[in-house]
Amino acid sequence: MSGLQDKVVIVTGGARGLGAAAAERMARDGARLVITDLLAEEGEKTAAGIDGLFVRHDVTSAEDWQAVVNAAVERYGRIDGLVNNAGIASNSLIENESLEYFEKVLKINLTGVFLGMKSVIGPMKAVGGGSIVNISSAAGLTALPLTSGYGASKWGVRGLTKIAAVELGHYRIRVNSVHPGMTYTPMTAEHGAQVGEGGFPLAALGRVGVPEEIGEAVSFLISDAASYMTGSEVAVDGGWTAGEVVMMQQIPQ
Ligand code: NAD
Repeated sequence: MSGLQDKVVIVTGGARGLGAAAAERMARDGARLVITDLLAEEGEKTAAGIDGLFVRHDVTSAEDWQAVVNAAVERYGRIDGLVNNAGIASNSLIENESLEYFEKVLKINLTGVFLGMKSVIGPMKAVGGGSIVNISSAAGLTALPLTSGYGASKWGVRGLTKIAAVELGHYRIRVNSVHPGMTYTPMTAEHGAQVGEGGFPLAALGRVGVPEEIGEAVSFLISDAASYMTGSEVAVDGGWTAGEVVMMQQIPQ
């Protein structure tokens, strides 16, 4: 039996992209999914494909979070897992970034994660434990230009994850962060990401990742297979943040 069988897992921003791939991966191993997103049509479709529940949800709203928890408990009776995946990107230099957009990114990417963790602690304590995966980024491990709000939010998610891990360990609630590198999704396709060998020379593996490769790591961390992991930061980035890939490319082979 898989370490995911019958676990009830909420995935935010699960209508498409990384969230949808993680949800589909966990459903294959027997988990029951609650997909949440602002995008109702895509969310309903993704949820229907895995026999899951869709709830329209803005991760910045405490009231919406309460509705998600209520819907999950009403349908499945419990909550075992949460993947805080919803997020938006930023793409400006600090000197050009507006205060409004900077604050918007923090609200969705960081406050949304705080609200999510806060909302599931009670239900997870009630069933004797749980697992939370917060989706940070390579931009939460190293300084990427053009990512002021995004990078700050993702560094924040990395730190908040460790605080939660320390606070919640004694309830047997594990909390880990996943740090995807450049992965082909609607978010990065907009900025020109392309799948295929040689498509991303900044990563040691030389290519952009696909959502399923991130979904594997998320699924593992939610499952009981990761029972001794908490407070970890798991890079799934093709080696982008591992070290001096550019220097390596300058050495004659
Ligand atoms: P995506 O845009 O395809 O999916 C993100 C989803 O979040 C969308 O469906 C969107 O509607 C939803 N969302 C946005 N704001 C929301 C809100 N306020 N409430 C609820 N849902 C909301 O992007 P993706 O590439 O799949 O990204 C998923 C996560 O992975 C994000 O947190 C992103 O920062 C992170 N990430 C992605 C990459 C990458 O290369 N794709 C790399 C590192 C980290």
